[in-house]
Parts: sequence; structure tokens; C-alpha cells
Amino acid sequence: MKELEQLPIPLLVWYRENARVLPWRSHPTPYRVWVSEIMLQQTRVAAVLDYYRRFLEAAPTVADLAALPEDQLMKLWQGLGYYSRARNLQKAARQIMETFGGVFPNTYEDIRSLAGVGDYTAGAISSIAFHLPVPAVDGNVLRVTARVRGDSGDITTPAMKKRVTQALAQIIPLDAPGDFNQAMMELGATVCLPNGAPLCDKCPASSFCRAFLEGRTGELPVKAAKKARRAEERTVYLFFYENQVALRRRPDKGLLAGLWEYPNEPSGGTNWPAAWGLEPRTLERAGTGKHIFTHIEWHMTALAGELDSPELPAGWVWADRTALRDTYALPNAFQSFSEKVADRLGRF
Ligand code: SF4
Repeated sequence: MKELEQLPIPLLVWYRENARVLPWRSHPTPYRVWVSEIMLQQTRVAAVLDYYRRFLEAAPTVADLAALPEDQLMKLWQGLGYYSRARNLQKAARQIMETFGGVFPNTYEDIRSLAGVGDYTAGAISSIAFHLPVPAVDGNVLRVTARVRGDSGDITTPAMKKRVTQALAQIIPLDAPGDFNQAMMELGATVCLPNGAPLCDKCPASSFCRAFLEGRTGELPVKAAKKARRAEERTVYLFFYENQVALRRRPDKGLLAGLWEYPNEPSGGTNWPAAWGLEPRTLERAGTGKHIFTHIEWHMTALAGELDSPELPAGWVWADRTALRDTYALPNAFQSFSEKVADRLGRF
């Protein structure tokens, strides 16, 4: 028997004994599975738990999510990162209301047609919520499968993903496709760890896993080196007037689309305060911060200054500490400066 064919039974037995208790696993409705899967993209389970609870309280149904005001949606997502996920969730909720009569679609193709839902998420929802035998292939599943089969294909390529998806489609158990997919992810997240450090002695696949039997767990999976991130120096301006700080909204497209921020621009060259028509009394250094995005790193220096007039460029707003806490969603990138702002406005 091929390695992968030996996997389902011991894996399911292991999963049923070892699965972490997670709120979206009890009562896995399509909506709950969908929200959790979107939140879990690029994000650790521990970081998601509180967000998930708050999100479900604020929007317990697709209809509630479709109707949620944008600022509230962004506030619920504040700090979770990759904000386009939140926008796509709402876009998809509106699609469900308009195209599917408010009922969550129940075929792989229809689920895949929702905004922000790729092959992996469509597979996860189809299998967990609708018991359809469709693999859900994420980074964890690619790693486990490459190791079990001893496959040295590059897991960052679409060809390898296709090969793994096809291989798993052959062995996914028809009576437990959701558990199988979740078990693969769970094994990857808790046992078959990346960076050459799998816990093979705890693994239900160790008696037939090629990487383990051949001593190749350090080499597999093969992953092409990522391109280096570009570093960008930015100056962040903390403009104060009375007990408020100036914020502006980022453009609707691109990095941190539509979120609020302290005005900031690439450092050097332009005198930005003058370009914005602002005349701070003084501008003092107010700390530094660094934030790492997928393709870019911001190295930020903050300058703080008091303005004599409340006039701001079009589209900017003044926010006091209550508004910073309750109304405006600022991304984590600016967290380094919240201390400075709190010193001036009071805790928020
Ligand atoms: S035996 Fe080791 S390398 Fe193979 S699947 Fe299990 S944890 Fe991963």
C-alpha cells in the first residue's frame, strides 16, 4: 500500500484523541466555519480566539455581517492584520444575501465563488460544514503530505499544490472528510512542525512516513527561498490639537486599505507638514517603530507637534481617546506610537 493510503485511519484515530477544543469546532455551521477559516489565514489559533468570539457576538449571522457598518467591522478586526479579509467577508455576506437568497451555498463551486474564498477555504467549508469529500490544502497539509510521500517537489508551486490536492482526493474518507481535513491541519500545526523539527515520535504516520523512515525530515518539504522584503523609511506625524490627535484614512486599495492612521509618508525630500498646509509650533522626535508586512518592512520615526488651529486637510479627522478606543480602527503597525499618544491624550 502506498504511504498516503495508509494515512486516513491512524490519522482519524489520533485526531479524535488529540483535537484541540476550539469554539468553531463545536456546532460547525457553514457561517462559523467560514469566519474561523478566514480569521485563521496567516494567523495563529491563540490570536484568533478572542476576535472570533467578539465577531460572532457582533455578527451572529450572515445577514448581520452583511449589514454591519464598515467602521464597526474594521474595529472588530483591529489588530488581526490582513484587513482585506474583513472586507471580503462582508462582501461575501452581501453576495450570499443577494445571490443565494441569504442561505449559505452548499456546493464547492458556489462556495468558491464567494469573495475572499480560495481553494483551501472552499475545501474546508465544503468538507467540515457540508461533508463533501474535497481536500483543503494549506501550508500544513502540503508539509505533512510532502513528508509522508517523500515528495521533494517545491511546495510553493501551483503544480505541487495540484499534485497534493489530487493525491488527497483519492484517499479522503467519504464518511469523515471534514475530520480528515482538520486532522491533517492539526497534525501539521501541532506535530509535523516546520523547519526540520517534527515530533515524529508522537505521530500516527511514523510507521510509514517516508521522510521519517529515510531520515529526510530536515530536507522536506522543499520550499523556494522567499524574495527579500523591501525596507522603507517612513516618518509618522503625530499632530495634536487640544486633547485630540489627527488621523487620516488610507486609500481604499492597497496596503491596510481604508484603515485609519497617523499621517505618515516616506522619509526625506518633501516637507510634508508644509505640503499639507499645517504649521506645527515645533516638531519633536517621538520614538521609532518597525512593522513587517508580507513584502515590505516599515522603519518608522515619529515626529510630534502641536497645532494652533483645528483645520486639517480634507478627509482627516481629529480623534480624542474615546474615539481612538471605540470608533477608529488603527492597524498594529502604529502600536509603537500609542504610548506617546496616550501620554498626551490619556489612556484609550
Ligand atoms: S512521521 Fe514525522 S515527518 Fe512524518 S508526518 Fe509524522 S511528524 Fe511529519
